[in-house]
Amino acid sequence: MPVARPHAFTDADSPLSSLPGVGPALREKLAARGLVGLQDLWLHLPRGYEDRTALAPIRGLQPGVPAQVEGRVEAVERGFRYRPMLRVALSDESRGTLVLRFFHFRAQQAAQFAPGTRVRAYGTPRPGQLGLEMVHPSYRLLGDGDAPLGDALDPVYPEIEGIGAGNLRKLIGLALQRLPAGDALELLPPGILAELDLPPLREALRLLHNPPADADLAALQAGLHPAQRRLAIEELLAHQLSLRRQRIALQSEGAQALTGEGMLVERLRGALPFALTAAQARVFAQVREDLARPRPMLRLVQGDVGSGKTVVAAMAALLAVEQGLQAALMAPTELLAEQHFTNLCGWLEPLGVRVRWLAGKVTGKARRSALEEVADGTAQVVVGTHALMQEGVAFHDLALAIVDEQHRFGVHQRLALRDKGRAGVPHQLVMTATPIPRTLAMSAYADLDVSAIDELPPGRTPVATIALAAERRPELIERIRAACAEGRQAYWVCTLIDESDEVVAQAAQGTFEALQAALPRLRIGLVHGRLKPAAKQATMLAFKQGELDLLVATTVIEVGVDVPNASLMVIENAERLGLAQLHQLRGRVGRGSAASSCVLLYQSPLSAMARERLDTLRRTNDGFAIAEKDLQLRGPGELLGTRQTGLASFRMADLVRDADLLPRVHVLADRLLQESPEIADRIVARWVGGAARYASA
Ligand code: ADP
Ligand code: MG
Repeated sequence: MPVARPHAFTDADSPLSSLPGVGPALREKLAARGLVGLQDLWLHLPRGYEDRTALAPIRGLQPGVPAQVEGRVEAVERGFRYRPMLRVALSDESRGTLVLRFFHFRAQQAAQFAPGTRVRAYGTPRPGQLGLEMVHPSYRLLGDGDAPLGDALDPVYPEIEGIGAGNLRKLIGLALQRLPAGDALELLPPGILAELDLPPLREALRLLHNPPADADLAALQAGLHPAQRRLAIEELLAHQLSLRRQRIALQSEGAQALTGEGMLVERLRGALPFALTAAQARVFAQVREDLARPRPMLRLVQGDVGSGKTVVAAMAALLAVEQGLQAALMAPTELLAEQHFTNLCGWLEPLGVRVRWLAGKVTGKARRSALEEVADGTAQVVVGTHALMQEGVAFHDLALAIVDEQHRFGVHQRLALRDKGRAGVPHQLVMTATPIPRTLAMSAYADLDVSAIDELPPGRTPVATIALAAERRPELIERIRAACAEGRQAYWVCTLIDESDEVVAQAAQGTFEALQAALPRLRIGLVHGRLKPAAKQATMLAFKQGELDLLVATTVIEVGVDVPNASLMVIENAERLGLAQLHQLRGRVGRGSAASSCVLLYQSPLSAMARERLDTLRRTNDGFAIAEKDLQLRGPGELLGTRQTGLASFRMADLVRDADLLPRVHVLADRLLQESPEIADRIVARWVGGAARYASA
């Protein structure tokens, strides 16, 4: 019997097609991004704000500080040195000059900028060859008449493919008109809001989507505005609830207890050219204990880069194999998966274990035969990318799923594995090289038990780290020349924060060309996120095989890549990166026996905070110590994207920035799970959406 729904038109779940102008095509584009109901649009939050309510004098522009300027075109230059480029010099009454730089433009667009034309531009100035410049600013040509300034801050939304920014803003505006009042929307107990002095949800959402000109822009940009905190606490709560429920639900299902004697494990240990570290042995013992229980293990192993997580995973896999069951090992990229495959083959095949490769690029006949082996159990250990988890891969009897570098996977993908076992769900072992402090682990991994391999194998020489001002680049280039002449290999990592892939790729391309010119005898390669996977891999492989001396890369190389002969790492713009990411990048060297070094190139002047980060890295190589320091340093005031923490990404919350809310979130989660499970349901559904089905399934 159909149930009459009150507030049909203000209901959070009303489909987006109930908005005027949303037809099937638009609906589909929104759905592709997980936006299905009105509520999803309410929660499609701006990723930043632009202040176009004022004009800044060009002379007063600060590098890195976004601003709106207005001036007249002084000069235009079209260049084709490496690729098309358009430079437009603007000057204003402050007698300052600013260059607008474009890499993509149409001839017609270039022609617009006739000298004398009045232009208003918004962007982030950066130091360029000719003073400050804005790369791909948003801009508008003005006639000679009045051009009023904005009277409110402009929200900038995460892009949705196929929907223009203006259109998206309009849609969100329409959705907001249907924000219900009171209990239909507010799910947090009033007590908690009063206690934390946070606004109700309705008010918070309206402010975030339409901040008035006098809103505290600095707080908004830093994510510390009370309206943002109001959303953050609910989102953290939603994730906490969802993870705890998943854990409860999963563990209430059975798993196959792996209780063998560990003969294969013993044989592997005997064959290894090294002894396990005490930490590896301890963590393996914990894993083994979990696996021996008839309910699924849910364990995260944190271990610094190079701490030797893979061999622990291999031993766990052998416990499944010994019992005639299967284990799967998954990595976020083909490159990493391939590395694991090589390692596991080397270790396990001599023991007579059949290791099979299955990745996205395995197609046709090879794929069919691999799938067959996976399905009939011939393949005992299966290694691949998350293609492994796609529908259509049926395991004969998967007992253990090992996921490397968890933060690239996310809970959803991890959970998709639960369907793959025959008797019960598979045990899950998650490995991450991004250690996080205990307090955060409790939240980030509320669904997992956590162990730590907190010791490196003996004999590693710590990476010597130095910080170098960018002006000293010529010395550095000399140093690279010398190192490569001795047969060493080097990475040169180009970073830009919060820029699009495109802009970062451009920067890497520029550095690549400059280094080629400066070091004509070296064999230099380039990888960035804009390359096709095949091209990226070919270059990585060439580097790995010693056919390249120097690899210029963006942060695509950050996780897990293992080239033991690479012993020099240069990180550009190191002052802009977070500690965790710097540490990750540095972990690409120091993997072989040669003494390694890492050069943190920075642009002066350094902020006090940036100086402290670079100092921390110089002082220690211990990922856990660095993680603690990161948490401590990343107090309010310093803006670093969530992306760099290596933690799950949230829409609003940031585990580090909002860490002070966590104790409250934990208490609230307990209370809701016990007292108001239906409210808990609604909170989870609101924020975690699709994944929520796993919680109650
Ligand atoms: P990570 O934890 O970063 O994934 P790996 O598992 O890739 O580290 O191990 C890094 C390197 O150290 C590998 O070459 C591995 O064979 C080696 N290794 C692992 N454990 C030990 C050990 N106990 N002693 C010496 N070398 C080890
Ligand atoms: Mg690894």
